[in-house]
Amino acid sequence: MIYFDNNDTTQLHPDVLEAMLPFFKEKYANPASLHNMGLEADSAVDEAREKVAGLIGAKPKELIFTSGATESNNLAIMGSARARSKRKHLIISAVEHASVLNIAKRLEGEGYRVTKLPVDGLGYVSPDSLRDAIDEDTFLVSIIHANHEIGVIQDIKTLADITHERGAWFHTDAAQALGKIPFIVGDLGVDFASFNGHKLHGPKGVGGLFINRKTRPRRLMEGAPQEFELRPGTENVPGIIGFAKAIEIAVRDREEVAAYLKPLVKRLADGLSAIPHTFLNGPPPEERLPGNLNVTMLYIEGEAILMHLSNREICVSSGSACSSKSLTPSPVLTAIGLIHEEAHGAIRFSLSRFNTIEEVEEVIKKTVDVVELLRSMTAFIPELHSERQGGKGFYRER
Ligand SMILES: *Cc1c(COP(=O)(O)O)cnc(C)c1O
Repeated sequence: MIYFDNNDTTQLHPDVLEAMLPFFKEKYANPASLHNMGLEADSAVDEAREKVAGLIGAKPKELIFTSGATESNNLAIMGSARARSKRKHLIISAVEHASVLNIAKRLEGEGYRVTKLPVDGLGYVSPDSLRDAIDEDTFLVSIIHANHEIGVIQDIKTLADITHERGAWFHTDAAQALGKIPFIVGDLGVDFASFNGHKLHGPKGVGGLFINRKTRPRRLMEGAPQEFELRPGTENVPGIIGFAKAIEIAVRDREEVAAYLKPLVKRLADGLSAIPHTFLNGPPPEERLPGNLNVTMLYIEGEAILMHLSNREICVSSGSACSSKSLTPSPVLTAIGLIHEEAHGAIRFSLSRFNTIEEVEEVIKKTVDVVELLRSMTAFIPELHSERQGGKGFYRER
């Protein structure tokens, strides 16, 4: 199998598994217990917290462990709404993950005003659009750091500064950013940042939320006083240990992995750009999240390409991982201006440190074959797109 779906999830790094094993076997106590075994588990969790906090430039008290980025996003957004109940306006972008889009939708149902900032043709949020949208009623601005579908990286520092001028809090969904691009909370000026383990070779079902000590969201669940009374429930000790180890490795090897992936992605982009009527969604490779490419192949369905590649032992995603089981096109792709047919022809290739150049060659070859096969079975109407994206070459413009 060739796995090119690393923005969906990743394989566990062997060192992460090694670090977790003792906490499944002999070190299984509840960190809340007062006996020796409990104390040992408690200090392991504390150490993990210190480690992760140190790697993102935070204080240990500013980091809580959660079940993943979905929960962290919910807690940051809903918890801020509850904590600052006098303000009734939320700002997000049009290219957020479903866990942000849908909690925003819930707030809208409760009577909140939600502004969804548009993006340009490459997926960038403009600081001016934030300046125009924000007002004294805004309690939070939530903008994704590195996009899971098209790899666009937002200028978080500028957006956070504008937000603070108006007294609102700033949250970023950094699930794809941490460990892949520089991530220090102080440099970015964020009040909240969401992470998870499984996007960076750590375990699933565990993540974190950075909470600047000047802010405090309201907890969403009631229970025992774990995680500074913000997130009750017995800690996922093996998960937390694995999460911390995964971040440690990712941050340690970040530049080396990015340098390793660069020629692989370049070769993949070159190989795919040779297919006629094909274009890249999002910014050029040198500007985007390492390892990520998203390509529309016109006149065929992304799902069909995905299934044919899957039959040839290659794993990729169509349009959006989250909408791949439904017929609605990805909101990220429609936000950058694609019409339905263009969004439906999109395939995301996402590589990790465990992929190789030989795999890239294999994927290019099989994708060329599959596209040829599928197009030979489709009514081919180039006129449909000559005026649109298809006529503009492989690389896009803002
Ligand atoms: C994967 C992902 C999430 C959801 O994370 P889970 O840990 O699976 O809940 C949220 N945001 C982004 C950008 C993601 O890529």
